[in-house]
Parts: sequence; C-alpha cells; structure tokens
Amino acid sequence: MSGMIAHWGVHPSIESNIARPIAFLDRDGVLNVGRQGYVNRPSEVELLPGAAEVIAKLRELDFLICVVTNQSAISRGLWGTGQLEVIHQELQQQLLSKNADASVDLFLTCPHRYEDGCGCRKPSPEMLYLGHRLLRLEGHKKVVNFSSVVHPITDQTVNWWGDKSVPFHPMDLMVGDRRSDMGAGWAYGARLFRVSAYEGIQAAVSRLLDENDIGDAFQP
Ligand SMILES: [Mg+2]
Ligand SMILES: [Zn+2]
Repeated sequence: MSGMIAHWGVHPSIESNIARPIAFLDRDGVLNVGRQGYVNRPSEVELLPGAAEVIAKLRELDFLICVVTNQSAISRGLWGTGQLEVIHQELQQQLLSKNADASVDLFLTCPHRYEDGCGCRKPSPEMLYLGHRLLRLEGHKKVVNFSSVVHPITDQTVNWWGDKSVPFHPMDLMVGDRRSDMGAGWAYGARLFRVSAYEGIQAAVSRLLDENDIGDAFQP
C-alpha cells in the first residue's frame, strides 16, 4: 500500500468548489470515540456528542468536509481497505441519522505505520493537500461513493523551522485531538483547533464558526 486511500461520502459536493473553505477533521477523538488500539469494525463506531450538528453547521457556512485519519492497522495487516470502507460508511450513516445535513464530502486515510516512513502520515500535510486537489480541482468530477482509490504521495518537503504556510482559503481549518493533527494543519496553513478526545469537535464549535478566530498557536 504505497499511497493514501480516498473514499467519497454519500452526498459529496461536486460543483463550483474552488472558492469554498475546507474543514479538515481528524476522525477518532474528534467525530467518534477513539478506541484503545483501533476502531476495527462498524459496531465500534460511536459518535461523540454534537459531532453531526457541528458538521451540519459548518456546511451551512459553505465548508467542504474532509476527514483526514491515520489508520496504521492496515499496514500492520489487521484488516484491509474493504473494512475501512464499511467503517466509514457506518460513520457517515450515523452522522446522517443524527442530522440530515451532516454529510462528509471526502474521507482520506494514511494506512501506514510510523516506521513505514510514508510521507502521508500526519503530521505530514499530504492528506490535506490531496483533499484540496480532489475537492477543489479535479477529483470531484470522478466521484464513486465509498469505493477505495489509492492516490500517490507527492512527498513535498515541509520546512518545520520556517513560518506557518498560507492556506488556499483563509477559513480552511483543521480540528484534531493530537499534536500530529496540529502539525499537519500548521504545515498546510489551516486555522488550528485542538480538542480533547473526550469532548471531540463540539468543544470548538463556536470558535470554528467565528471567522475572526485565527485558531490555536502552534510551535512545531
Ligand atoms: Mg484522533
Ligand atoms: Zn502514509
């Protein structure tokens, strides 16, 4: 598995996306309860309170929704992309059952372990760049819901000693519960919002929606 895995959601936005901001959301500990080890099957997907409502509110403000998640269980051989698809289908279904507007446009996954040295595992910003390309440029014209497509890693180098990057849209944001999420968002240039894995995305809702909130400071 040499690249990033992409799945489109059930109702992805497919037109005139170039001017819309993107909300990059970590998955475990942000949208759903993180598990010791991994979320290994659909029955282990448990939404955090408010996750569906926050996604619906972001969509109301015209955000595209892109989940970006590290899932090294795949590289470890515990399960494969078919299982990842059904887990993401279950997550999408649960979100929609709570709020009909809580659709995710795109799910992006790094399937590697740290030791694989892959170039896409967060804190690398590769998945965020791929999300930008697929959502805003070409990819949304080739939507196939929930089927796995592997995208190559471009391996751009990040200057972790330089300044924070400038995002493609000033409202682009990254929400995560770990430092590696903040690193990926910093390297991409997103507004950064760190939440606790117990509260998830709901903890940051008023900040996410406030265009004057430039996000958390971060020092790589
Ligand atoms: Mg997480
Ligand atoms: Zn990777």
